[in-house]
Amino acid sequence: MRKIIPLSFIFLMILASACSVTRNGQDDGRIELVLVQVNDVYEIAPLSGNVGGMARVASLKKQYQQKNPNTLLIMAGDFLSPSVYNSLSYEGKPIRGRQMVEAMNVAGMDLAIFGNHEFDIKESELQSRLNESIFNWVSTNTFQQTSEGAQPFKKTANGKEQPIPEYIIHTLRDADGTVARVGFISITLPFNKAAYVIYTDPLSTAKKMYAQLKDSVDAVVAITHQFMEDDRILANNLPQLALIAGGHEHDMRFETINGVKITKAHANARTAYVITLEINKRKNSINSKAHLVYLNESIPLDSATNVAVEKWTNIADASFKNIGFDSKKIVLVKGEPLDGREAEIRSRPTNLTKQIILAMQEAAPKAEVVLLNAGSIRVDDIIAMPVTQYDIIRAMPFGGGIQEVDMKGKLLKQILDQGEKNKGIGGYLLYNEQVKFDNQKNEWTLKSAPIQDEMVYRIALSDFLFSGLEANLEFLNKQNPGIIKTYDVQSSCPLSDIRHAIIKYFENHPG
Ligand SMILES: [Zn+2]
Repeated sequence: MRKIIPLSFIFLMILASACSVTRNGQDDGRIELVLVQVNDVYEIAPLSGNVGGMARVASLKKQYQQKNPNTLLIMAGDFLSPSVYNSLSYEGKPIRGRQMVEAMNVAGMDLAIFGNHEFDIKESELQSRLNESIFNWVSTNTFQQTSEGAQPFKKTANGKEQPIPEYIIHTLRDADGTVARVGFISITLPFNKAAYVIYTDPLSTAKKMYAQLKDSVDAVVAITHQFMEDDRILANNLPQLALIAGGHEHDMRFETINGVKITKAHANARTAYVITLEINKRKNSINSKAHLVYLNESIPLDSATNVAVEKWTNIADASFKNIGFDSKKIVLVKGEPLDGREAEIRSRPTNLTKQIILAMQEAAPKAEVVLLNAGSIRVDDIIAMPVTQYDIIRAMPFGGGIQEVDMKGKLLKQILDQGEKNKGIGGYLLYNEQVKFDNQKNEWTLKSAPIQDEMVYRIALSDFLFSGLEANLEFLNKQNPGIIKTYDVQSSCPLSDIRHAIIKYFENHPG
């Protein structure tokens, strides 16, 4: 069994008037902790429509903190990637989440956990982000694979190496002298199989850690980054949890299972969950209230955080210029808003995905079939008019080229079948409207003719999809015997970057 990290992370929040805390028996045994929760935040600046942004998150925390100093800002995973900043460098190094850590530091983030996307970046890059962060991390089931086996991730600050603890105990005090201890544990879904990460089983790890903590604290909060279904299972197994503050779904979720509230805010800090835990030590009870706050123009931008945000947006704009983008340039003035919401694009074509497919078709006119993995579109948002080049960049932060190949019909059908099975995840496939599935005949057709096993078809697809890295589509790669020819045309614009292809398409077809 792994050793437990000592309680080196106890952080006390003491009222300004702590020295005058009464010791005359006024302690009423009740104390409130306020958690301001965000999750799945990829943008540091407000989105189109002026919603979200880390500067608003900072303001919201401050508003609650003024009313109750026992207020913590927590991030339930997925913030270092994917991002438009992932393709950019600053001071000679890829940015890879540095902009977010800096904004979170200034915004007063208190506690963060790993989501699956934290492991998108290289181990050395994640290490830099850990070292730069002045907030705390907790990681109960996620560890670093080292030559000595699984070890806690570490953060080096001021020359001192500190392991990321498996739990944190936070001590609260209020004006009448009530003191309470709240334990935080974290669960991350074992989804991203980066070689440097090791997971222990989410549920059994949470149960074990809860059992270990429960007698030394007044409440245990699980901050999670996993599917809602797994959060429900967690709540069913640990009904004594004070709260499950989760992430991963991107649209808001709220459920009470077995008396445990599960809260998830909208991605990109369009909203934040504010949860008040009222701990009654005399009654040995915890009462929780949760409400969703929309981070729109009614919440001001925190000026200090905004300075950091503007610094990075200026760096990004300059970098986009270097790779041929003018981020502020408008590419589409009128039309219906483009639907890039993850839950939609991973289960059906939307007006956004149809336009992207048309853009790929226009960039690769000889291709008969165009294939795109829905996971390459990461905006998880409805893009309002006017659409700027920045919107295209943030819609597809990974960029990447359009690859053309010749493949046998048998392989093509296998890919299309798997694309359907991938409904709901990033490997769901989008394709041009000439491709259809004939339900009656139970067969795939191209321009109404059945796709033939031995016939060869010219396909345009994202180079990521052709790399064998998409979930359940590992067989789609250069080595597959169904691939007859790989075209070497990617170096030319716009095939070199799908985003240029989209911008060009909108230029050719305005509104
Ligand atoms: Zn996630």
